[in-house]
Amino acid sequence: MLNFLSDTVTLPTKEMMEAIQQAVLGDDVYGQDQTVNELESLAARMLGMEAACLMPSGTMANLSSIMAHCPRGSKVLVGDESDIYIYEAGGASVCGGIVYEPIPTQADGRLLVQDLEKAFPVDEEDPQFALPALLCLENTHNRCGGKVLPIPYLQEVKEFASARKIPVHMDGARIFNASVALDMDVREITCYADSIQVCLSKGLSAPVGSIVAGSHDHLKKVRRIRKMLGGGMRQAGIIAAPGLVALHSMVKRLDEDHQHAKQLAHGLAEIDGIDLDASEVQTNIVLFRITDPRFSWSTFLETAKEYGVIFSEMGYGRIRAVVHRQISSDDINKAVQAVEKMLKDSPL
Ligand SMILES: *Cc1c(COP(=O)(O)O)cnc(C)c1O
Repeated sequence: MLNFLSDTVTLPTKEMMEAIQQAVLGDDVYGQDQTVNELESLAARMLGMEAACLMPSGTMANLSSIMAHCPRGSKVLVGDESDIYIYEAGGASVCGGIVYEPIPTQADGRLLVQDLEKAFPVDEEDPQFALPALLCLENTHNRCGGKVLPIPYLQEVKEFASARKIPVHMDGARIFNASVALDMDVREITCYADSIQVCLSKGLSAPVGSIVAGSHDHLKKVRRIRKMLGGGMRQAGIIAAPGLVALHSMVKRLDEDHQHAKQLAHGLAEIDGIDLDASEVQTNIVLFRITDPRFSWSTFLETAKEYGVIFSEMGYGRIRAVVHRQISSDDINKAVQAVEKMLKDSPL
């Protein structure tokens, strides 16, 4: 099977499996796991933040960080196409008593300042209004097809948020895809956020885990909330050891995924019945539509699977292909050929 379902399907590398076996372990709830401590200090340094904390998932990372920033009854401003708003089970409302304010998402993943502005009440003293306490950005943006938020835009949002006295949380599940695509140190991106969530388990290929990074004060609160949510883990060095390999040696190779994604996009764009603009591809995600009238998006997905290729649906009938370490250039050619053959074979 050629599996374009997600970059989360990546299995740990041999180096990661060896690191797991050799990891020095301790009880991390008591702060005694050296491997976790090493990962957290490396992550903080790489991301240009004061402190960092290992999390079991990106969802818990975002939730803990949002709850640490937002008092009960306040609002968190999130993109209406964001992972936080769509795929995280409404955790901030359920666990934190926080109101999500969905902001229209532009095709390139930006939330316009003029739209963010509307979330602020005319009179902050008026007790009837819930007050915004946090603004969240997603970088790269999954449902916008792996788009990288431009630096001048981040600067504009940070200035807006500072003027409005609220922090910015970045859902940077794929932040290293952004830094590699821009050919910049990731700190040139994270400097526009007060806190960030980074997934180790996506293109970086670690089996489990995410990082929250931010100020010392913020991380103190995040750790308490992580414990409350059940995310205090004992010999978590088992997770941190492959995470260290991910941060040390898996970042640069993301460029290869980006090249492969472009290759896939150019190949698929040539096929009649597929609507795809290859110039839209910036990182490791390719979005397209099936316009061939013999298929709906769901019969396309089913049939593609019979031809050995797994894609997924990404809203509004769009089909998503995610490229990752376990997809080679040769696999891309095979996938394009399989889709070609499938469209040729299908009865009218
Ligand atoms: C995957 C993802 C998450 C959540 O991470 P999990 O580890 O799956 O909980 C959050 N935000 C974005 C943008 C993601 O792609």
